[in-house]
Amino acid sequence: MQESSTIKHSNSGRSRNFIEESIEEDIREGKNKGRVHTRFPPEPNGYLHIGHAKSICLNFGLGAKYKGLTNLRFDDTNPVKEELEYVDSIMEDVRWLGYDWGDRLYYASDYFEQLYEYAVILIKKGKAFVCDMQADEISATRGTPKRPGKESPYRNRSVAENLDLFERMRAGEFPDGARVLRARIDMASPNMHMRDPILYRIIHAAHHRTGDTWCIYPMYDFAHGQSDSIERITHSICTLEFEVHRPLYDWLIREIEIYAPRQIEFARLNLSYTVMSKRKLLKLVQEGHVNGWDDPRMPTISGLRRRGYTPDSIRNFAELIGVAKRDNVIDVSMLEFCIREDLNKRANRIMGVLNPLRVVIDNFPEGVVEEMEAVNNPEDPDAGTRRVPFSREILIEREDFMEDPPDKFFRLAPGREVRLRSAYIVRCESIEREPVTNIVTTIHCTYDPTTRSGMPNSNRKVKGTLHWVSAPHALESEIRLYNRLFRVPDPDDTEEGKSFKDYLNPDSLRVVTGYLEPAILTAKPGEKFQFERVGYFCVDKDSSGTNLVFNRVVPLKDSWTKAGG
Ligand code: ATP
Ligand code: MG
Repeated sequence: MQESSTIKHSNSGRSRNFIEESIEEDIREGKNKGRVHTRFPPEPNGYLHIGHAKSICLNFGLGAKYKGLTNLRFDDTNPVKEELEYVDSIMEDVRWLGYDWGDRLYYASDYFEQLYEYAVILIKKGKAFVCDMQADEISATRGTPKRPGKESPYRNRSVAENLDLFERMRAGEFPDGARVLRARIDMASPNMHMRDPILYRIIHAAHHRTGDTWCIYPMYDFAHGQSDSIERITHSICTLEFEVHRPLYDWLIREIEIYAPRQIEFARLNLSYTVMSKRKLLKLVQEGHVNGWDDPRMPTISGLRRRGYTPDSIRNFAELIGVAKRDNVIDVSMLEFCIREDLNKRANRIMGVLNPLRVVIDNFPEGVVEEMEAVNNPEDPDAGTRRVPFSREILIEREDFMEDPPDKFFRLAPGREVRLRSAYIVRCESIEREPVTNIVTTIHCTYDPTTRSGMPNSNRKVKGTLHWVSAPHALESEIRLYNRLFRVPDPDDTEEGKSFKDYLNPDSLRVVTGYLEPAILTAKPGEKFQFERVGYFCVDKDSSGTNLVFNRVVPLKDSWTKAGG
């Protein structure tokens, strides 16, 4: 019965992944009365990136697929690193991706009182104790995976003393780091996370939501599982590194005796030529290697949005890569494939020349302007047509001309013919050059007036078709050509003595002037176009009035070295 409703929701007809199998198994067994409730739990300490997008699509996707619910919960347990700016950007990004948490917006900080009570329960059961050791002492006595750790000398404090000290920690009697609350589990456990982990620490810092109410804050490991439990999350989808934390989460839930969500781990998304850790992304921003979190070279959702990625392309990407149980690296070209595929359907075409060469059509009358009709999007019949001015002097791409071309060069060369897209067939008659440098400055052509649309020879075939713009009508725009931010596939895998920053690509941004069809003038920030034969471009927010600025989303083909690259 559940099966038939799920199939309709699955957009690619693919087989079920292991997470869906687990959920369907729970539904079949009547666990949680068939209820499915997931959550996306970001820590508001940075902007979301494409890896988070994967998790968002997964969690909200599962909620929708099983007619369940999905919460947005900020895991805001560390007042030192968290900020309102991040909270706002995260909400904006989730919404932009197309997901809706309805009235289910939560904060772990809303549960501080409840979490405190849970800690008291553990203390009363003799399962937690206040430890006076310093953080470095605690880590020094944790042992190694092969060697057991050393028990804290404070481990056998009485319940009464622990309760008193924990209350005084809360009351602000002790400075930062003076004491912590630790679980009392097993210092010899082969799982390091079970070796009396820290549950609470003292931080005298204002929290962005609770202000100065608290000076003790729960560790992520103490807050996360319990928050899921409080919200009665049925399936806590986590990334793989939390698999080793699971025994601790289970232990806490069991000892506190509260509702137990089912945790399922999947491999985090890694992308080639990309770093994804928030800590590293923050460094790039703070040290000015990029221009902010939404720099179009960043793998952040805000960066991808500004670059010109669409929500659909990112959701399709998440679906295409699926979920894995083992860590792997996805080739960034997969993401580029998804945006090309999406923009091919939705972006209108225009002509734009990025590296201009002047062409004079000698037999075309001076001062005359003809209007050519051009199809906006061959993939979308509803997109209509537009008018493109044609005149005696046009610009073409310098790469589209060769003086001494090989046989297979089907573009312009002395004596050869090409079609100008949506216009005439022209033939190259002669070349003008700069006398000192010998650089070609102008090409002289003749046109065949019978070859435009509606004329008898409009269908005459020539091998090459070039894009062009009428020189007197061209709109000059700033074009930002992005390339990969890193020059190696795995910038995280650093050699000794090197940092990921040593692998930054010095050519990740090149700014050129583009000469565009005047039709572009009405374009608004965020609007996307295919510059024919060149690539996909998005109007940047830095545009103002007729000063348009474009970000290159991706070149047309999967090659970063060709024209304009
Ligand atoms: P980072 O390691 O970059 O700081 P994080 O995992 O600490 O990221 P959170 O805010 O805790 O950041 O992440 C929120 C959710 O997004 C978590 O459930 C986490 O599992 C998931 N997530 C984070 N990075 C990825 C990724 N690369 N692929 C898939 N899911 C991810
Ligand atoms: Mg995390």
